[in-house]
Amino acid sequence: MPLMEPDEAAIAAGARALANGRLVAFPTETVYGLGAHALDSEAVAGIFAAKGRPTDHPLICHVASTDALAPLVAEVTPTAQELADAFWPGPLTLVMPRSDAVPDAVTGGRDTVAVRVPAHPVALALLRAFGGPVAAPSANRFGRPSPTSASDVADELEDAVAVILDGGPCEIGIESTVLDLTCDPPQVLRPGRISAEQVEQVLGGPVNAVASGPARAPGMLESHYAPGARVEVVAADLVGARAAALDASGVRVAVLAPDAVEGLPAAALVLGPAGSPDHYAARLYAAFRRADAEGAGVILAVPPPAAGIGVAVRDRLQRASAGR
Ligand code: AMP
Ligand code: MG
Repeated sequence: MPLMEPDEAAIAAGARALANGRLVAFPTETVYGLGAHALDSEAVAGIFAAKGRPTDHPLICHVASTDALAPLVAEVTPTAQELADAFWPGPLTLVMPRSDAVPDAVTGGRDTVAVRVPAHPVALALLRAFGGPVAAPSANRFGRPSPTSASDVADELEDAVAVILDGGPCEIGIESTVLDLTCDPPQVLRPGRISAEQVEQVLGGPVNAVASGPARAPGMLESHYAPGARVEVVAADLVGARAAALDASGVRVAVLAPDAVEGLPAAALVLGPAGSPDHYAARLYAAFRRADAEGAGVILAVPPPAAGIGVAVRDRLQRASAGR
């Protein structure tokens, strides 16, 4: 049984497993990660095999402190240093030109590497005990919702990991903001808890936000973060009618919305109210998993307002609903 309370012995066991080229699942403030020794190509290959993830899909390198960034990148630029000072440890991933130390297995052959210092005490304890960079994507099978609890990880990947460190539910609940520093101005590749506006304030200059909303045609979106149930993104004033129509055609409907929805069919599975955008983010993937566990055919999701982390929640809902 690899699921362990994250005491000193478990952290040490996790660090040993990483050193031996095995996989360790650990909590971060965003979602649970599936970690491997980042400088050990064979160990990193194990991540792709466990997840069923295409090998050209790059991984994020997790380090214990900003000091540990330097060996992984060509240069710690003033911009990177400013952002690290402002946001690390925290849910911001920086994409930078890589050093020769980083194997192709981590970057999918790119000449850039993605790095962050996570804010979760268990993640930091593991990184310190291991003493090197840990490559880690989210600890789910490819394309599925990210795990936000240790039991989610066990459901997805138990057989593949040496240790699952149980740090309880993740506080943020969706993946880190990914910011590309190899272009000018910097570009958000994936929205998260740290917004483009927050980054702009620190840098005192513009940041290109990821294109979102109607401009990103659903057909163009990579399907990702998707539960078994079909996700439909619906406006608040239309959700009642859509739920009634699906219910009438014999589909079990689940509803996730910021506020309570009146007049839903009696059989509807109410996954909310999700509340503020922060709460919505923290509950999103657990709600997807619950809908699947209860046999919902369709999840009707009313998006939160497009401000702060709401931008990131809307991005995940779009992707979860795409291409199905
Ligand atoms: P995940 O590991 O599932 O959290 O996903 C990692 C995210 O980081 C993906 O969105 C990747 O595309 C992104 N990423 C990692 N490395 C790079 C890189 N070198 N360049 C651009 N994006 C990256
Ligand atoms: Mg992922």
